[in-house]
Amino acid sequence: MPLRPQRPCRAQGCRALHRNANGYCEGHAEIAAEQAKAWATRKGSGRGGRPWRRLRDQVMKRDQYLCRCDECIRLARVREAHEVDHIVALAHGGTDDPANLRAINCDCHKAKSQRESKSIKK
Ligand SMILES: [Zn+2]
Ligand SMILES: [Zn+2]
Repeated sequence: MPLRPQRPCRAQGCRALHRNANGYCEGHAEIAAEQAKAWATRKGSGRGGRPWRRLRDQVMKRDQYLCRCDECIRLARVREAHEVDHIVALAHGGTDDPANLRAINCDCHKAKSQRESKSIKK
């Protein structure tokens, strides 16, 4: 395995060179850990990136790749899930928290979006 090139530490004012993947020298490894934690707990920031993919997989697995939409739950219908849906839409203040996510069948998703785009009758 070739060695990574040495790079300067990313901590302010630190000029130490290192080969760490986290971008910080040994002395600043704590900062790197801190930043990784902050990144992992940051919610609702940016979709489509790696964290979202992982979250999506996690939700799919939790819901056993079955649709958990209101219709399917109400009718106890078993449908394959294709995507992950926000229970409370991001536009309505929902988050990317797993508690606000569920696996959904693409037809159910389409129907739900259609229902939402029409004036909602209750
Ligand atoms: Zn450093
Ligand atoms: Zn469904």
